Amino acid sequence: MTIYILAAALLTTLSGLAGEEIKRVETNQPWVALTFDDGPSKVEEQLLALFEKEGVKATFFFNGNNVSKNPAWARRVVDAGHEVGNHSFTHPNFGKIQDNEKTRSEVLNTQKAIKEATGKDAVLFRAPFLAHSDMLWAVLDELKMSSISASVFTDDWQNGLKKETLLENATANTKAGDVILMHSWGYHTLAVMPEIIARLKAKGLQCVTVSQLLAAGSKTPKK
Ligand SMILES: [Zn+2]
Repeated sequence: MTIYILAAALLTTLSGLAGEEIKRVETNQPWVALTFDDGPSKVEEQLLALFEKEGVKATFFFNGNNVSKNPAWARRVVDAGHEVGNHSFTHPNFGKIQDNEKTRSEVLNTQKAIKEATGKDAVLFRAPFLAHSDMLWAVLDELKMSSISASVFTDDWQNGLKKETLLENATANTKAGDVILMHSWGYHTLAVMPEIIARLKAKGLQCVTVSQLLAAGSKTPKK
């Protein structure tokens, strides 16, 4: 009996709970996840070269719209061993969509575009603006996808953010299990990336994909 209860609890932990975003992961591994939203774009090519050199794995939340325009770029990211997640098709605010069909097509068409480009099914979702709705949760639940928020917000989308501030945001309080949110188009993202990796490494932290991080621990739902 105890075993069944434990097994059920474990399954619930691993699959996540509907209606709860995953912000970070409790883990004994010295691992963090770098995540980049809104691609694919040409920027990823330069990130990939750096990540290869540094032994870094990352997670890219792509918009289906961009994937269908640039399937080869999406493919390159997956071929390099990184993870690709679903970030909707046109980057809407799901909190403001009233239409169930629109909600479904945003997620499903992106799954299709990612599958066609990379040969893989995305298992992770990140909501644009981190905005959810009950309709969105129903689709994610149906597809058994986890919604990934973040625990480290770099604010790299802010024009005029100083590079040093961005570096501090990304690394100063970052600890094992954290999910770091960035954008591949961020104003200084490429420029600061080598130093972000160096500072994380100096803290003994290794960059892995979100799925690797999830597999190494139990999920902590959004507060
Ligand atoms: Zn986005």
